[in-house]
Amino acid sequence: MAEHERQHVRVAVIGSGFGGLGAAVRLRREGVTDFVVLERAGAVGGTWRDNTYPGCTCDVPSHLYSFSFAPNPEWPRTFSGQSAIRGYLEHIVDTFRLRPHLRLNCEVTALRWDADELRWEVATADGPGWTADVVVSATGALSDPSVPDVPGIDGFPGKVFHSARWDHDYDLRGKRVAVIGTGASAIQIVPAIQPDVRRLTLFQRTPPWVLPRSDRRITAAEQWLHAKVPATAALRRGTVWGIRELQVGLFTKWPDRLRLVESTARSHLRKAVKDPALRARLTPDYRIGCKRILLSNDYYPALTRPNVDVVASGLAAVRGSTLVAADGTEAEADAIVFGTGFHVTDLPIADRITGVEGTTLAEEWKDGMAALRGASAAGFPNFLTVVGPNTGLGNSSMILIIEAQLNYLADFLRQLDTLGGRAALDARPSAVRAWNRRVQQRMERTVWSTGCSSWYLDANGRNTTLWPGTTSEFRKETRRLDLAEYQIMRLPGARRAPAAAKEATR
Ligand code: NAP
Repeated sequence: MAEHERQHVRVAVIGSGFGGLGAAVRLRREGVTDFVVLERAGAVGGTWRDNTYPGCTCDVPSHLYSFSFAPNPEWPRTFSGQSAIRGYLEHIVDTFRLRPHLRLNCEVTALRWDADELRWEVATADGPGWTADVVVSATGALSDPSVPDVPGIDGFPGKVFHSARWDHDYDLRGKRVAVIGTGASAIQIVPAIQPDVRRLTLFQRTPPWVLPRSDRRITAAEQWLHAKVPATAALRRGTVWGIRELQVGLFTKWPDRLRLVESTARSHLRKAVKDPALRARLTPDYRIGCKRILLSNDYYPALTRPNVDVVASGLAAVRGSTLVAADGTEAEADAIVFGTGFHVTDLPIADRITGVEGTTLAEEWKDGMAALRGASAAGFPNFLTVVGPNTGLGNSSMILIIEAQLNYLADFLRQLDTLGGRAALDARPSAVRAWNRRVQQRMERTVWSTGCSSWYLDANGRNTTLWPGTTSEFRKETRRLDLAEYQIMRLPGARRAPAAAKEATR
């Protein structure tokens, strides 16, 4: 990259899902207009742009799964579908005049800390790239599909795709389709495609716990009321939020009490599946809640249809057009749909970020991700992650966490401004360790640590993905940036503001 060709911005945001667009709105509201949002795809929307599989719907009620500063009285259903949510995000771009800041088809290939200039060099796949005082990484945890390395898959003669890369040009009608996985995506796909396909074989490695879903159309009268009397929409949101806050303790402190929820899930299964053998295969043997609890009214009924087989074993190998499960069961297929999730604990963007020590974030995180207040990794100054380590939720809306992280971002920028001159803030390793210790201590009692193994846990068995508390607690923890938790970096010989000089000596 030639220095003179690069443009400098105050802030570079990476990603344009809820996190990236939320950051953009917040920057504008803080009076920061010198920023760009770098997006590798040709449109905004993040996971809600990429996941277009049949039946894709959100399992968090719409009135909570939206920004607090941009209520949408027109949500069509209590649980909205992908297109409504994607439309909402496009609407956010227009309402908050974000389009001039967007750089679409602009994939960030490398981020390198420039210690001489105290700023980030941002290389992109096309164009000269950027330099930025601050980088906000909002690439999300559900952006890079994870496909298991199944022996023989390359020799499969049919069609293969992942749930988040749905091939709409491929007609599944009349085909023998294998769906791999039984997570939140797969259980929406199965009932959506079952009526059309000739044969559907579901490879289930672990049966999920499934609860009823109380989805319904939001009436025109409700929409009218929410538009005319916004307090009613706020009340609706507040109620949904409050109920979910009250549930958190069951996951984090009293996992045994989740037994009661298991009985509701069992009765849901019993009502839908009369065949005892199939029911046995679909009955989980681990504590509910340690994997994401799924909501569906049509998943179990779809599995009882005559054109569906449930193989209670993971996909282990492929031999030509024959799929072989770990228990030896074989099935013929014309197409394979992987509903096998995402790279959550090994975020691919981390390989591309080189910090103060010349190491990548992936190298620093090789023993597990950790970031102060879910945002700042030591050795990566002026770099904040939105939806970072231990910020995920088991039962509520990620938008609440994202907005809390944006409060932290806003205070980070304010504090940088008060330092005067060119400065950077680098999380102290001791502060990151102390934060992480607290989080991991709280994690010990949770259902995620005691209930089962899941993708919430990394290769070392540590939960580096979820926040072990309520959203209000997280909001409180991220309301302000504590300067004592950071090292202040300055260019040699730069002027020091009196307050900053005091902090720097701590
Ligand atoms: P996921 O929850 O990671 O599920 C992956 C599934 O693939 C699991 O059932 C896993 O089994 C299975 N699997 C992996 N390798 C397999 C193999 N070789 N054979 C058979 N099965 C295999 O992925 P996801 O369903 O895409 O969901 C990811 C996350 O996206 C969710 O937790 C949620 O946060 C989000 N999501 C949300 C919504 C929503 O409504 N808001 C909808 C979809 C997704 P094991 O359980 O045995 O590991």
